[in-house]
Parts: sequence; structure tokens; C-alpha cells
Amino acid sequence: MLRRDIIISRVLDFCRRTLSGKPQGDKKQQPAATKPAATATASVPKATVSSILPPLQVITRDQHSVSRRDISPSALKVLYRLKDAGFEAYLVGGCIRDLLLGLKPKDFDVVTNAHPEQVKQVFRNCRLIGRRFRLAHVVFGREIIEVATFRGHHSGSEDEESTAPKLKTASLSDHGQILRDNVYGSIEEDAERRDFTINALYYSVKDFAIYDFANGMRDIAARRIELIGDPEVRYREDPVRMLRAVRFATKLNMDIAPDALTPISQLAVLLKNIPAPRLFDELVKMLMAGKAFDNFMLLRDTRILKQLMPQLDKILKQEPEGKAFQLVTHALQDTDQRVAVDKPVTPAFIFAAMLWYPVELRSQTLLIESGLNDIDALNIAMTEVLDDIQRTIAIPKRFSLTMRDIWALQSRLTKRSGRRAFKMLEQTKFRGAFDFLQLRAQAEGGSLTELASWWQQFQFADEAEKLELINSLGREGQDRPKRRRNNYKRKRSSTPDA
Ligand code: ATP
Ligand code: MG
Repeated sequence: MLRRDIIISRVLDFCRRTLSGKPQGDKKQQPAATKPAATATASVPKATVSSILPPLQVITRDQHSVSRRDISPSALKVLYRLKDAGFEAYLVGGCIRDLLLGLKPKDFDVVTNAHPEQVKQVFRNCRLIGRRFRLAHVVFGREIIEVATFRGHHSGSEDEESTAPKLKTASLSDHGQILRDNVYGSIEEDAERRDFTINALYYSVKDFAIYDFANGMRDIAARRIELIGDPEVRYREDPVRMLRAVRFATKLNMDIAPDALTPISQLAVLLKNIPAPRLFDELVKMLMAGKAFDNFMLLRDTRILKQLMPQLDKILKQEPEGKAFQLVTHALQDTDQRVAVDKPVTPAFIFAAMLWYPVELRSQTLLIESGLNDIDALNIAMTEVLDDIQRTIAIPKRFSLTMRDIWALQSRLTKRSGRRAFKMLEQTKFRGAFDFLQLRAQAEGGSLTELASWWQQFQFADEAEKLELINSLGREGQDRPKRRRNNYKRKRSSTPDA
């Protein structure tokens, strides 16, 4: 019955398109000449509402491995309740993809033809969220099942004919980027506007079949990240899909298909149009989920890194295997190992590692060019580098303050004479600063290795051993010559509010 509904809807859709004279077929049949130019600024025609989907495949229960045993009971409850209330409802996206790959899904997302208000009527434990596109959250204790209404196309004309209720139609920017995307639609339209073929798999509890709208099963078997439709158009609509391609490739241990990989280096520049808070969120997903190092390498290879962190990218280009690369590698590999054993990780530490050499480089330039003392030069360099990165990636203040602490304490770790080392141990940020020093020692070796091992001994030594360690320093570990320090003090105290 359900299968028939979908087939009928496809036939109706086909007739509507034929009557309105709109082009048919998948992207492979589109003439190359109609493709927009691959430059950041070139404008593209507004996307047409041509079907970019191949024929629907229905994979019956005996032909796939997704079992109700592996699905969250709360998600199943939502599906059954919506079905019993007369609505269509499916599990979709990451959860079906992950179950097919034998992975544990992060969450279970439901789509339905019920409108948010109708969903709210079915569930008492439901709240509506989102201003632009309303979503229903059905709450089961600590678990939330997100229920979205099928989304429609992002072009006006077809929607006018559509019987699907709608809000305002969506619109595109001059670069082809979706600006508004808040139209309700059919399941087919919903599938069409998803990003990758492997994310357009729908599972129903009416017949326990998987509805594969974009050859996702084929690409799961081939372990291939493939966009639905023309990759260039889809990246232009939402440049974040380039980051998602990288993230899914590493997370799922798949390859990005050549036609999806090739345009990225040219289109990465479009990421500049993405709001900085969204890029921070996406990067956190890439760096905190156990595949930070692989993601970093792929971001570098695809030239996305150049767009996101030009300061770091420049240093890496000058010395591809140099100390900046070593530090980032050690930091990200450590992060991945911590995630693997469920230890906490923080974006502050990761971003501190990625931006340490840009800060150091800037600080050295300031020392030479402006004659500032090293503490002031470091402070200014930290501010400049952080201000710079904030324009692209909005690192929340709670993390950027920790980054500053970690960086600033690096120079204090070199000063160990008298009571200084004891005071340093009392610092709440000591652990982070010491871990960071160890990473730098791994990256650079030399005197940093000695410094890191001294602190390693010092923090676990008893009182007598601690004094002995300080005495063993001799002239090392002392402050810079008094004269410069006094100069700095005098300069500070001459400021009006000192
Ligand atoms: P995971 O949760 O493991 O990161 P996911 O596939 O569930 O993977 P989400 O970000 O939770 O990813 O998105 C849920 C679904 O929404 C995706 O599977 C995809 O179908 C769709 N989607 C998300 N972001 C986009 C996007 N930028 N463009 C098109 N579709 C998207
Ligand atoms: Mg998800």
C-alpha cells in the first residue's frame, strides 16, 4: 500500500513536470554547458526544480539488516504513534546509514507528513522549536526524538502547483547559496534536498522496508560519499556540505567520489559566506568525535584549511613536516585516543595547538619590529590571532580564554627559580599548560624536552626533592636580566590607570 502511494506520487510528479516543460532525468544527463562556472563570485541561475533522483528502490525487510532491536524504543514509539494517527513516518538519515554500516547511531531522526502542530497533538511530551523551520521534539526523559515535516523544494514555481502546505518559498543568493529553506513538501522532495545519497534512506514501520531514493544502498556497499544531484550546485547551495563530505568520509571510512571531491578545492572559498558560529559547530563535530587527525589531513588536502585557518595553512606550506605540523599531529592524535577511551576533550586545547605557531610567529615579528618586551608581544599576538580567527570560526569566549591561559603559561613554565615553580603548581590551569608543553616538546625536541621532563618530575616529587630540582637549575630557569624586567615594570606603572 505504502509502496503504491510513493509510486503514484512519483507518477504524478512526473506528469506535473512534463506538463510544465521542466527538464527530467538525473544530473548525468544534464548538458555540461548549463553548469555554473566554478568561481566564488560567479552568479548562477536560480536552481530549477528538476528531479535529480534515480528510480526509487524499495529494500524489503528480508533484504536489509536494520532490525527494530537496534532502534531506540522511543523512536519506535514515535513512528508507531504517528502511523496509528494516520500519518506517514520514517526514520531517516544518519541512523539508517549507521545501522546499515554496523555502527551505533548518534541519534534517531524522524520525518513525517504531519505538520508540527499535528505532531504536537499526537504527543503530550512534545515541544515545538525553531523559528525558520518548525521542528517537533518528542521528549522521553533524557532522550529527545526530533520529528521534522517533509521539506520541499527551494524554488517558487513548482510549489505554487504543489498541494503541499507551505510557508514562504526558499531563495538562493548570487552564489547559489540557500538563504531561506522553509517549505513543506513530499517525501520525494524531502529526499531530494538531503545532501548525500547515503543520507536519503527512509525506514518505515508500516512494512519495515527501506526506501532508497538516491541509490544510497549502492554507495554504502561501494563505501562512497556521493552527493545527490550535481555536486557543484549542491555545494553552492550550502558550502558546509564540503565539510560534511570530509567528516562522513573519515567517520565512515569511505572515499569521497571523484565528482564530489574535485570541485571542493575551488569552491572552498564559498565557506567565507557561512556564519562563523556555524563553522565553529561543524569544526567541533570534526575535531571532537575521534577522527580529528584524519579530518585535519583531508581538510588540508582539499584546501579547505586554507579557507578556515589561513595563518596555520601558510606555516604548513612553508614547512609541510615542520614543528607546526608535528604539534597539530600530536595534539589531534592524542585527542582521538582520548575520545576512543571516553576521556574528556576540549576544543580549547585543540584550537590552542592549531594556532600556537601563528601566535609565536606573530609575537616574534612584534618583538623585532616594535621593540616590545616578550610578555607584551605575546599578549598582542594572542589578541591579533584570536581576533583574526573569530571572523571565520566563532570560538566561544570560554574556550578562547582558556587558549590564552595555556599560551601565556608557556613562558611562565620556563621560570622555575625561588618559589615560582611552587606557585605555578597551584595554578588551576597548570595541568593544561603542562600537557601543552609536553606536546611542544614532542614537536620540537631540544630544550623543551628537558623542560617538560623537569616539570614531570617536579609535580610528583616530595618537598625535599622539589627543592633539589630547583637547586639543580643553577642559572637556568631564572628570570630574564633584571634591567629589562624593570623597564617593563616602569613602563606599566607609567600608564595613567596603573
Ligand atoms: P551524524 O548525526 O552522524 O553527524 P547525520 O547524517 O545524522 O550524521 P545530521 O547533521 O544529524 O547528520 O543531519 C541529519 C540529516 O539531515 C542528514 O542525514 C541529511 O540527510 C540531512 N542534512 C543535514 N545537513 C544537511 C545539509 N547541510 N544539506 C542537506 N541535508 C542535510
Ligand atoms: Mg544525526
